[in-house]
Amino acid sequence: MKLVRLVYYSQASRSMNLSDLRNILETARSNNSELKVCGMLCFENEFFLQALEGDRETVNELYLDIADDPRHEGATILSYDEVEQPTFELWKMGYAAGSESFYELLRKNGQTEFDPEEMTRAQALSFLKDMAGNQTDV
Ligand code: FAD
Repeated sequence: MKLVRLVYYSQASRSMNLSDLRNILETARSNNSELKVCGMLCFENEFFLQALEGDRETVNELYLDIADDPRHEGATILSYDEVEQPTFELWKMGYAAGSESFYELLRKNGQTEFDPEEMTRAQALSFLKDMAGNQTDV
């Protein structure tokens, strides 16, 4: 099995409330644990930033499904790498939104406003790793 990590960003196609986000996370968490995919999803300022880690074919197919989801648009891959070990908690999908620590860690990673379009791949990955340790309950 070839383990890969894909990081992408996108924009919500309409305004998202808590129940929309719960919906996305419930599906993601139940599907991903079956697919043995893990990662981290951040949502703020109408932007999504997500890391997906798992078997190469599984991640590729899942990304195509996600990118096709009408709840967001403009999905853009920021990085795609083979990895030795998963970075994120095994077979779980973490979640973080605009908390105080979200903005603190965003500043540490070089931004004041959450805008993944302006992030380098290194900034995005470092921010996702930081946020995995500072998750938001939904
Ligand atoms: P369902 O959830 O029943 O979905 C069937 C179809 O309907 C899909 O094409 C879906 O895109 C669409 N759909 C579902 N709910 C809605 C809605 N409320 N409004 C409009 N269309 C809808 N899925 C994962 O498995 N893992 C992930 O990590 C993951 N991350 C996501 C991140 C984001 C930002 C978004 C927007 C979605 C994410 N999803 C994720 C959901 C994914 O896009 C698909 O909905 C899901 O994989 C399909 O699950 P399902 O087969 O159980 O079908």
